[in-house]
Amino acid sequence: MVVFKFGGTSIGNVERIKNVASILKDNLKKHKEIVVVLSAFGGVTDNLIKMSVTASKGDPDYELQFKKIEELHISIAKELLPVKYQTETLSHVKLTLNELEDVLHGVFLVKEISLRSQDFIMSFGERLSTYIVSNYFNSIGINSEFTDARKIIKTDESFGNAKVDFATTSKLIKETLNDSKKLKVVTGFIGSTTNEETTTMGRGGSDFTAAILASVLKAKEIEIWTDVDGVLTSDPRKVKNAFPIKNLSYEEAMELSHFGAKVIYPPTMQPALSKGIPVRIKNTFNPKFEGTLIGSKGNGSKYLIKGISSIDNISLIGINGSGMVGVAGTSQRIFGALAAKNISVILITQASSEHSLCIAVLPAYALSAQKAIEQEFRYEIKEGLVNKPGIESSLSIIAVVGENMRRTPGISGKVFNSLGKNGINISAIAQGSSERNISVVIPRQDESKALNVLHDAFFLSSVKTANIFLVGPGKVGTTVLEQINQQTDYLKKEYGLRLKIVGLANSRNMLFDVNGINITGWKDKLLNSGAKTDLSAFVKEMNRLNLSNSIFVDCTASRDVVKHYEEIFKANISIVTPNKVANSSAYGKYLSFKELALKHNVKFAYETNVGAGLPIIGTLKDLVSSGDKILKIEGILSGTLSYIFNSFDKTKKFSEIVLEAKKKGYTEPDPRDDLKGTDVARKMLILAREIGIPLEFKEMKVENIVPQKLMAIKTADEFLEKLKDYDSHFEKLRSSAEEKKKKLCYIAELKNNKAKVAVTEVGVEHPFYFLDGSDNILSIRTVNCGNRPIVVKGPGAGVEVTAAGVFADIIRISHYLS
Ligand code: ADP
Ligand code: ASP
Ligand code: MG
Repeated sequence: MVVFKFGGTSIGNVERIKNVASILKDNLKKHKEIVVVLSAFGGVTDNLIKMSVTASKGDPDYELQFKKIEELHISIAKELLPVKYQTETLSHVKLTLNELEDVLHGVFLVKEISLRSQDFIMSFGERLSTYIVSNYFNSIGINSEFTDARKIIKTDESFGNAKVDFATTSKLIKETLNDSKKLKVVTGFIGSTTNEETTTMGRGGSDFTAAILASVLKAKEIEIWTDVDGVLTSDPRKVKNAFPIKNLSYEEAMELSHFGAKVIYPPTMQPALSKGIPVRIKNTFNPKFEGTLIGSKGNGSKYLIKGISSIDNISLIGINGSGMVGVAGTSQRIFGALAAKNISVILITQASSEHSLCIAVLPAYALSAQKAIEQEFRYEIKEGLVNKPGIESSLSIIAVVGENMRRTPGISGKVFNSLGKNGINISAIAQGSSERNISVVIPRQDESKALNVLHDAFFLSSVKTANIFLVGPGKVGTTVLEQINQQTDYLKKEYGLRLKIVGLANSRNMLFDVNGINITGWKDKLLNSGAKTDLSAFVKEMNRLNLSNSIFVDCTASRDVVKHYEEIFKANISIVTPNKVANSSAYGKYLSFKELALKHNVKFAYETNVGAGLPIIGTLKDLVSSGDKILKIEGILSGTLSYIFNSFDKTKKFSEIVLEAKKKGYTEPDPRDDLKGTDVARKMLILAREIGIPLEFKEMKVENIVPQKLMAIKTADEFLEKLKDYDSHFEKLRSSAEEKKKKLCYIAELKNNKAKVAVTEVGVEHPFYFLDGSDNILSIRTVNCGNRPIVVKGPGAGVEVTAAGVFADIIRISHYLS
């Protein structure tokens, strides 16, 4: 004997019901005897509740809702049944619906709905569906018998969540379901009291009905047929990568379902466990798949845990006060007070000082729980020994479950680490004494992110995904995208890293795709995205998506983008950027960005702020953190100025070289922006700050080599023309240096906490003397290195190298991610 239960999702419409019949027919060949338990048609229980609430408000709209429910049942009956079966079935269905309409009318008139009448109203869902489907089975030659479970399942009067009287129920089941020639088709979910009042056994209770019947009838197996491939590692609606679990122990299944895995109703496990009956979860849409087997052994798993579930919305009640310390019976009084009000507690945590206790309940019970506790401790509260209990709402519980967790160190570390790295704050932690479960309470808005982060950490630890949001796909940004595209396979293979481009924005349009924007076609997609760029909206969307391991890549040079950094860090998103604005504005701002990133446990990476892809900032930071003391930093930090002075010999005029540099694309559109020296100064300012000097821009000495009179000239072309008048001035500087066997360089220098940027003469003994082309060079003198400086030299500008530097920052951050 086997008990089969088909859920509402499996009998949502005519086609699905036919599919269920064909599954049954196949199984009737395999099993001698089958008992079938059915739920209401998909969505009907919810609609019955909604309709009864509408009626209880005195809103005549309930009639419209009733009509829809009526039509659904009548149309399914008509479509399923051949004409000769229709008359009897339809007249019974209509009579039953009339009964429902009468009750609803009553609710409408008295404008009140009790749990008792709500249970009665809900019972129509199962009663109608089971009656129709059982008649359909008969019509296709499966000899069936409809049973209303109210005749056999006896419960107490806790309407909405009735407790079963197993002794009486057992007797009635044995007496009633004794004709082994017929397929018994039984309503799930419902029962009745000794006074024949209708009760229900809690939402999702049809699974429980199946387990009760199975335990009394000594079934070989309980098969729960639903719309997914079994119990999955997490809720598939929230975690796309969830996959079916092959085996679970009863206890594991109980923990998972208690903490929200809706696929099986928690009380189901009790009767199954006590009789040792295996429970199999199968998919009506994929009947060949083996599904999940729940039994006395969990049968291990190659993973550390079995699954992760969540309860989307809970409230925490906090009770504390000195009067709780060492006082026996405090917890008992709390739970007694809650039990008296029928409030079920989902999770409890207690600080070891016994000074405070935290209880999670469903939000609907939060106020009454608070009142019950307040009432229980009214004297202690008056005396100031216990504080008034507080409520914290909009929270979720995430539970990590598995037998393997027992005595395996590091599981909670992994949980907290993964959540911490994604800026998810934990309000309470509970670990079951069985060590089968670690539960954490977190803000509700982080539920989906937390589930995905933990799922990736425990099940897909070989592949990490970083979600990238890139603004400013100009030359550098586009190259970064191309480099990511090119390296996809390598990163996956070597580092188990997947860089997913989720958001893109240029100055015109923006585009999002949580599944990842295909890099090959991004230009067209962005062009046709239909969404005008609005930075605030872009940041809001990143925030709303709340994806784990998010990185914002700012490839602009814009001040406007930097205005959003604060908000981005606060959303626990890391930032990678070559944009110097943030770090070279006021020192207070520079510090606040660092502090924000630290506080929110995210990274701020800007290696390309100085010397593009050259390892300058990282090297300095490493030296400082290893305890070395920086004595002096000197550098040629502008590719343009490097080129200009390296090319300046007696064969060329200064103005000619500047023109040439512009033609080669080395300079800014107006070369004065390079010659002013401010860009170089900003770079040195950042380096100074990186080694801990609180320098401001205005405290630096910056030599502007644009002749004063040429500063006011409007266009770049005119400037280049006028610059010729100053060739002799520059030539004089050059030849005077040459006479001393020196050459001119535009050098930034930091010494004794002071920074200056100026044209400087250097001799052959200086490491900068032999610099070529547009290379950058930096020399660092430290205490540990004595008089041999550390020199970093190479291409310090250009699209490819800058993009490579940005790309390297992205990869470095991704390694740090959970
Ligand atoms: P039925 O109508 O068959 O009783 P339910 O809606 O009650 O179906 O339960 C099945 C649903 O449970 C699935 O469609 C899935 O969305 C949800 N679910 C939540 N958590 C899990 C999980 N861990 N594994 C499988 N399904 C889950
Ligand atoms: N129809 C009921 C519900 O939706 C019982 C069940 O489906 O198991 O809760
Ligand atoms: Mg269900």
